[in-house]
Amino acid sequence: MRTILHSDLNNFYASVECVYDPSLRHRPMAVCGDPEARHGIVLAKNMLAKQAGVKTAEAIWQARQKCPDLVVVAPNHHRYLRFSRMIRQIYAEYTHKIEPFGMDEAWLDVSDHPMGGEAIANELRLRARQELGLTLSVGVSFNKVFAKLGSDMKKPDATTVISADNYRERVWPLPVGALLYVGPATRRKLAARNLRTIGDVARCAPETLRTALGKSGDMLWCYANGMDRSPVMELGESMPVKSVGNSMTTPEDMRSDPEARAVLLALSENVADRLRAKGLRGREVCLWVRDCELRSFTTQCRLRESTALASEIGRSAIQLFRCHYRWEKPIRSLGVSVSMLESEDSDVQLSIFGEADRVRRYELEGTLGEIRRRFGSTAIQRASILEGGYAATLGSVEACGTRFME
Ligand SMILES: [Mg+2]
Repeated sequence: MRTILHSDLNNFYASVECVYDPSLRHRPMAVCGDPEARHGIVLAKNMLAKQAGVKTAEAIWQARQKCPDLVVVAPNHHRYLRFSRMIRQIYAEYTHKIEPFGMDEAWLDVSDHPMGGEAIANELRLRARQELGLTLSVGVSFNKVFAKLGSDMKKPDATTVISADNYRERVWPLPVGALLYVGPATRRKLAARNLRTIGDVARCAPETLRTALGKSGDMLWCYANGMDRSPVMELGESMPVKSVGNSMTTPEDMRSDPEARAVLLALSENVADRLRAKGLRGREVCLWVRDCELRSFTTQCRLRESTALASEIGRSAIQLFRCHYRWEKPIRSLGVSVSMLESEDSDVQLSIFGEADRVRRYELEGTLGEIRRRFGSTAIQRASILEGGYAATLGSVEACGTRFME
């Protein structure tokens, strides 16, 4: 049986800011995107702000109503990247099988380590505290899904073990939404069949789930029964990815520039989020168009600098579209991908951090992307996407979008 850890840095952005300015530890504080702008939102908060009722993803003015003396700090993406790398260096002393999940979370396969999972988890927490001034919640289990669940169960600074012996008592009573990949839409479908806890799902017939959820029903049943076998991807294993892309078929054919534009922006945002999650940027943007007679073509352009910015990817995709599509036929599907990839750590970063505006946008998009990852892709959307009228279909990009040319 495998031993998998899922390690999660608590209140990551806020905790890092407290390391740089320890006086913030004693005041309620929140890291907020765009603190100047009226619509700035809370990206992370410390314990004191949390106790005052401040919530992630709410507007600054809402947070201030509950917590008038809230200290608002702008995000410093490069600081978070730095701490993210330092904690990974500590992980690497225990295993080379490390799979990052965003900047603050990672799975570790420590099956081959003689110390055992729980002891490693406790040592990691101690070292994070002493060496970085941060706290960790660690889940220890025999698969990735339960390990992730474990790290969510007790915070901050805690180890939770979910074993083959105790998972029925510990996991099954939890609401099904606590499972990785179970979003609000899935939750509603399950609730309609009176399936509310993970145990409900585990005990029901797989066919019931397949009827309710299609293919992903089988997956969910396996997860609930502790049968997730997905491996922890080793660092670097994600590198051979040649491109990151996504495509979307709209419920009705697109007939105008604004419609196509809205879809391209949504796709670009999704691609940018995935690039960032993989720690990648790319230099080539590729557009794929398929018309209502199913004839398709692709075209691409090179960028001056590599990017993981949704705004830059979107602009290129829209430009390509305007140059190459003449609206002879309505469009059924569009796709955007980014290739010529390089790691976020490479030297290119220097030139990016040389441009203040780009840095600001990168930090903002990074934090917005993080929120979409946590709260679903509909949590935050650009006004231009909503105007295009595709808000309702956006949620399905991640789930149904076929990745092309990946
Ligand atoms: Mg975290």
